[in-house]
Amino acid sequence: MTIDRAVRRRFALAVFFIFVALLPLSAQQKPDCTVRVTLLQVNDVYQFAPVDQGTRGGLARLLTMKKAIQKESPNTLFLLSGDTISPSVESITYKGAQMIDAWNTAQLDYSTLGNHEFDFGPDVLRQRMQESKFKWLAANVIDKKTGKPFGDTPAYAVREFDGVRVAIFGLTLEETRVTSRPGPDVDFLNPCDTARKLVAEIHATGIKTVVALTHLSMGEDKQVARCSGVDVIIGGHEHTLLESSSGGAPIFKMTADARELGQIDLNISKDTGAVESIDWKIIPVNERVPEDPQFAAVNRKYGALLKELARVVGRTGVDLDARSAVGRNQETNVGDLIADAFRFSTRSDVGLMNGGSIRADEIIKAGLLTRRDILSILPFKNKVIKVEVTGATLRQVLEHGVARSAEDAEPGRFPQVSGIRFTFDGRRPAGSRIIDLSINGRPLDEKKIYTLATSDYVGIDGGDGYAMLKAARVLIPRERAQFDSDVLQAVVVKRVVAPKTDGRIKRLDQNQKQENDCK
Ligand SMILES: [Zn+2]
Repeated sequence: MTIDRAVRRRFALAVFFIFVALLPLSAQQKPDCTVRVTLLQVNDVYQFAPVDQGTRGGLARLLTMKKAIQKESPNTLFLLSGDTISPSVESITYKGAQMIDAWNTAQLDYSTLGNHEFDFGPDVLRQRMQESKFKWLAANVIDKKTGKPFGDTPAYAVREFDGVRVAIFGLTLEETRVTSRPGPDVDFLNPCDTARKLVAEIHATGIKTVVALTHLSMGEDKQVARCSGVDVIIGGHEHTLLESSSGGAPIFKMTADARELGQIDLNISKDTGAVESIDWKIIPVNERVPEDPQFAAVNRKYGALLKELARVVGRTGVDLDARSAVGRNQETNVGDLIADAFRFSTRSDVGLMNGGSIRADEIIKAGLLTRRDILSILPFKNKVIKVEVTGATLRQVLEHGVARSAEDAEPGRFPQVSGIRFTFDGRRPAGSRIIDLSINGRPLDEKKIYTLATSDYVGIDGGDGYAMLKAARVLIPRERAQFDSDVLQAVVVKRVVAPKTDGRIKRLDQNQKQENDCK
């Protein structure tokens, strides 16, 4: 037995040594000729705290994941494909500075500019870029005064790993010019033209591996992949998990708010410096990932606000449609809920809310409603005032509300109403589009005085062109009025809401833009 066992042990040891001797051979062969560069990808991240009731996302978890992956793959770059400074409830207060704090702590390496980076104007963006410890890249966003990339950033960055060089450049949606607030001094060049020129320039320096960090539509990403010769596109903007390929280059997009982390491994030949193969996986960022303790300082700094925003204030029994493209074109259940809340809280005959002041731009799922949900729908802290108007003025108000409905894709003035039912036709001339109009079940009486609840933005400032209300007699002035968000919150605190559209607004022309392509 003893001999037998000894023989067996010797045999086992021999097998083990053969195994070990063989292993390094095969394991060493690969690193000898290829270098693995790992790209970690997130895009469209508006909150550093976890989302979906804490179940997904969160930059503290990302930091844990990044550190673990980097241990196993030291040549790691952590990338953000744009959209982070805006919009969010936190950014109402901090204008994106909270996200820069968070990314600095999360050890981000590079970000491209998303369209929303310009929401607070170019000066605020410059300030945010200066606060960033990571580098911004957007080769096609040009400061007209210098002719160079906006914010004094380089056209591309180069990193060297174990002797191979990797170039990275950024691209941003051209439409940012009109969908955000870059001001007159910022130009957006064609992404394909920019990429083609830049990749040729990069290749001329002998660098073979080129990564495009983009915030474009998938269609544009595919064009860039075909026209430029990039090796991989790390993209964003759609808020949809997408894995595509064009011109031989894979294109990746995560959803949003760091619900997933993309891990893209570039296996680069040491001999040629070119990408030999690409491996990838999409890793869910969920509760199983512990938060990195290093992130505690950020959580502490913004803790009071986060706690307040996470406070549950009510419940909705149905999905709340707060999509901008819908609420600026037709009746929505959120529009009805808000206009009703305005009207009933002020005991007015009718209520009106301009669709453009209703935000969130998403469908809020049935379930618990937090203070964050309320503020995301009504972020402007407008006051709910009450005025007196004649029937004739009320008709004028509504005509004004639909006067851009056929001309603009998303007119902010579009009226969400309460106590009012009307039919309109966008094909008719502006000013005579309302075909049928009744107030609380009776035809509108042009001479009658009605009380109207609306926001101070519309009713006092004449915002969105509602100038005809400026002369109205004010019954509840803004000094005595409640915030719109508080009025809405009071409704959901009282009962489980389940608003349904009831056909109070009928639209005869179907020239409606249903999808918001400006995420
Ligand atoms: Zn975007």
